[in-house]
This record gives sequence, structure tokens and C-alpha cells, in this order.
Amino acid sequence: MGWESGIQLKVLVTDKVDEKLLNRLRSMGMVIDYKPGIQRDELLKLIDGYHILVVRSRTKVDREVIDRGTSLKIIARAGVGLDNIDVEYALKRGLVIINSPNAATYSAAELTLTLMLMLARNVHLHIFDVKNGKWSKGAYEGVELRGKTLGIVGFGRIGRAVARYAEALGMRVLATDIIDVSRYANELGVKLVSLSELLELSDVITLHVALTKDTYHMINDDRLRLIKDGAMIVNTSRGEVIDTRALLNHLDRLWGVGLDVLEHEPPREDWEFKLIQHPKVIVTPHIGAETVEAQGRIVEELVANIQDALERVRNHG
Ligand code: NAD
Repeated sequence: MGWESGIQLKVLVTDKVDEKLLNRLRSMGMVIDYKPGIQRDELLKLIDGYHILVVRSRTKVDREVIDRGTSLKIIARAGVGLDNIDVEYALKRGLVIINSPNAATYSAAELTLTLMLMLARNVHLHIFDVKNGKWSKGAYEGVELRGKTLGIVGFGRIGRAVARYAEALGMRVLATDIIDVSRYANELGVKLVSLSELLELSDVITLHVALTKDTYHMINDDRLRLIKDGAMIVNTSRGEVIDTRALLNHLDRLWGVGLDVLEHEPPREDWEFKLIQHPKVIVTPHIGAETVEAQGRIVEELVANIQDALERVRNHG
């Protein structure tokens, strides 16, 4: 994979990113082709000849894309989740994969809190009524989050940020993870429990795992049955973590569901539209990282990680 430091690097960007990222890469002497929303067929035709591919969550970077990119050295994901990239295959092909894992932590955690608070007070229903000329005071009584139990599934960066906010609201916080997170749990006064216990005990359940083979549909019908009547579920992680069709059968007995992510984005199946239209459900269009601050941090983190990756490729290429 020899790579002299003199060559002009060609970068293909296939999802919408902050203009600043493009300018920063240009200022590093790279040639940028910005094609947000490019369709797969065109991507397959175009990819050969590019050294760096920059994507967000929309572009699927599978074996075929990687194989066609014969000059590809770096895949850069502007964001956290790498579930749209065949990481194992890319690493086997000697590519460097980078992302910006810290940039959106607080934006995603704040959105999680927003969905919890909106659900608790039925804000979505009130907004809808008032906009349609109906003064809905008294129509949908809310609940307080204070004193309620929050269950955090996946006690990583975002899960821990949510725990800090929940403490300020006076919630009791439980968490579950597959790695040892006891140091953080002790620091934050959070009780670690099994997933089953968490589902049985929580008034509000919030999901913060990465999408993997093991987390795909981890909240399935059997697990949904463990959740108590009147509980809320919030998911700002990945849509595929919940079996949406199974969730539909539990909506009547739940308080409400807040989702920033769906199994298909944008939604396309009948069961997804049913979910979106349900009065107990709030859906936002994957806006967890859509803040001025997160997008700014993504640029900084990604540029620094691309510089590091270039060093590595040049030294070991
Ligand atoms: P992270 O890697 O810091 O934390 C994920 C945690 O989940 C880890 O501690 C991991 O051990 C744990 N985990 C993995 N499998 C598990 C399982 N089966 N059961 C319990 N725990 C498990 O990641 P993060 O920065 O906190 O982000 C979490 C996810 O949020 C990302 O992977 C991404 O998919 C999603 N995200 C969404 C948005 C958005 O726009 N809505 C923005 C940022 C991140």
C-alpha cells in the first residue's frame, strides 16, 4: 500500500457534513468531491481512485464498496456508530477506520432528556392540539420524573451523561452493561443490575448501546413483557435495537415511547408508519447529533483523527 507523503489525496464525501469539515480538509491540500445523498450505484462506479471516504450513518460501506475502492486507505465516519461499515472486512483489507466518538455525547444525552420530559408531560399531544386550535389544558395529565427509576441500557459515554442529568432531576438510576463499568457507577451513584432486573424495575428505560449482532432486536417481545405497565421507553441509539413490530403490541400498556431512530430511516414499512402515528409515540428524525456544538466538535475530532491516521498509513503503508 505504499503511500508517499507528496501525493495529493482525493477525498469522497457521500453524506451531508458541515462545510467547515470540507474547508479544513481542503486546507490540508486534499481534493474533495462532495456528493451528499449519492446513490449506491453511483458510489460503486465512482469510488475507485479515492484515498479517503467520509460518511455519516446513511452510506452503507460494505465489502463491495471497499473492494471497488482500490486506492482507499481511510474510511472516516463523521459521528459515533460504525454499524453502517463492514469494519471487520475493512480492517482485513488494511484500511484505517476512524470516527468522532466524543463529539455528540452531550447533544444525544440532552435529546434523550428532552424525549423523556416531553413524554412525561404529554407535550407532543398538547402542542398538536394547541396548533390545531384546541386549548387542551386538563386533557392529558402528566407525571413527574422526580422520584422515578431510570434504567440505562449501555453505560457508555451517552448513558453516563444521561445518568448525570437524571440525578439532577431526582431520579433513582439503574444501569446495565456487558463490560465492567463499576468505577463509573460508583462515581455517579448508579446501581448496576442485570438487563432483566432493569426492565422489571424501571419506570423509564433508555437505550444507549451500539448496534451489533448482539444488540440487534435486544428489546424483543420477551424482554418487552418484562417491562412494567405505565413505563416509558426512549431510544436514541439505533432503531434496530428494538423489535418495532413487537413494540407495537405493547404500546397500549406503556406510558409512551420516544424514538430518535427507526429500523428504516426514513421509515418505509406499514408498521413503522403505525408506530409514528400512534399518540403515545414521539419520533424525531435522527437528530441526536444535530446541534451547532456537536457538528463543530465532529469537525475538530475527525480532522485530528484523519491527521493521526495519515501518519500511521505513511509510517506503516
Ligand atoms: P459507547 O461505546 O461509549 O457506549 C456503548 C455502551 O454499550 C458500552 O459501554 C458497551 O459496553 C455497551 N454495550 C454494548 N453491548 C451491550 C449489551 N448487549 N448490553 C448492555 N450494554 C452493551 O457509545 P456512546 O457514545 O455512548 O453511543 C451509544 C450509541 O448511541 C452509539 O453507538 C450510536 O449508535 C448512538 N448514537 C446516536 C446518536 C443519534 O444521533 N441519535 C448520536 C450519537 C450516538
